[in-house]
Amino acid sequence: MTRIDEETLRQIEAELGEDGVWVAPELRDQVPHDVEAQIEAAAAEADTPTYVALVDLDHRDPLTHGDAGELANYIRDDTGRSGVYVGLEPQYGDDPYVLELTSFPDDSGLFYAARVASAEHPDDLGAQALRVLELLKSGDAERLYEQLDPEERYPGGSSGGDDGGLGAGALTGIAVAVLALVAVVVTARRRRARALPAAPTPTGASFTLPTAVLSTVRAAEDRRTEGRAQADVLALGEAIDAAELDPRHSAGLPAWQAALDHYDVARRILDRDHSPADAVGAIVLAGRGRSALAAAVDGRGWEPAPNCYFNPLHEGATTPVLWRDGESGVRVPACERCARAVTGGTEPDDVLDFVADGRPAHYFKLDLGAWSRTGYGALDGDLLGRLLESGRRGRSRRRSAP
Ligand SMILES: [Zn+2]
Repeated sequence: MTRIDEETLRQIEAELGEDGVWVAPELRDQVPHDVEAQIEAAAAEADTPTYVALVDLDHRDPLTHGDAGELANYIRDDTGRSGVYVGLEPQYGDDPYVLELTSFPDDSGLFYAARVASAEHPDDLGAQALRVLELLKSGDAERLYEQLDPEERYPGGSSGGDDGGLGAGALTGIAVAVLALVAVVVTARRRRARALPAAPTPTGASFTLPTAVLSTVRAAEDRRTEGRAQADVLALGEAIDAAELDPRHSAGLPAWQAALDHYDVARRILDRDHSPADAVGAIVLAGRGRSALAAAVDGRGWEPAPNCYFNPLHEGATTPVLWRDGESGVRVPACERCARAVTGGTEPDDVLDFVADGRPAHYFKLDLGAWSRTGYGALDGDLLGRLLESGRRGRSRRRSAP
């Protein structure tokens, strides 16, 4: 197994830039140089830019936690190279090799190619990688996948319960596709449960609370916020694991994905060094994840409900109010209590504050990255998107520092 440190990552990125393929030294027996040359040739002929990084990731790896998709995320973030990334799921014992395909933009259909190649060449990694590239080029993967025996479709994982009482022969093509999507999210869920990938803290290094200036009261409040964030995110993860999706209600799949994504980002924030502002953000993300999960279970679509701009921890429905901040006015969603204050011409009395330079300051007056820019999502429904953008910026900043 190979641990991916920053130096190895740079080496992989450089080699992928040259010929599109990197093979970890410990897999050289599996993929000799002549086979690598064939994979390079196939990658060069792909219709979409394609990068193959074959490495048996260690689930204890601090950077990737054994997740080939996470490795692809890092490489893509660092190099800006979109396209298809072919990686390897961690091996356990004599399990067959299973390739993991990650693409930017996301394409869940790649799953078929990975499964077909794995079924055809379970023990030959080089042949499997070549076959994946061939399938991506020919577009045959989905047809061949449907011809696989059910047990070949889910190597190493039971599909018990996933296809309920529906007989395979009775399934229409659409139902098969929906089941495949469910299998993808179930796989994703298992991966998340097993290993949580690391991600940048959204606020990066730009804001850390100087511990010495925290009053006792403030410190206690921060501990409460942190405790609630950990509990909320944990509870969301457990709710996701316990949830049952009805494959006949495919309208809920985007909501399901949203629940997973919110959980994933919240978990990653808490797993890294983070500020109290980030802990509040994790609470907000967990709340959105819960509401997305409820929609998914009901088979509904999902849009996040706006939170109170003045304090995202305020609960209840919001109404838009005109908030005059200095010269300019801006329409913001506010909870009932804050809305009453604003329409009465006063400032709400429980605005979310953080200590900066020894003094409490309203969060929206501070530079807290996506949190302050979006009002914790009050001003921009796509809070996740904004977070991932600023996370990328944060990481490149840190990595280019001496
Ligand atoms: Zn409020």
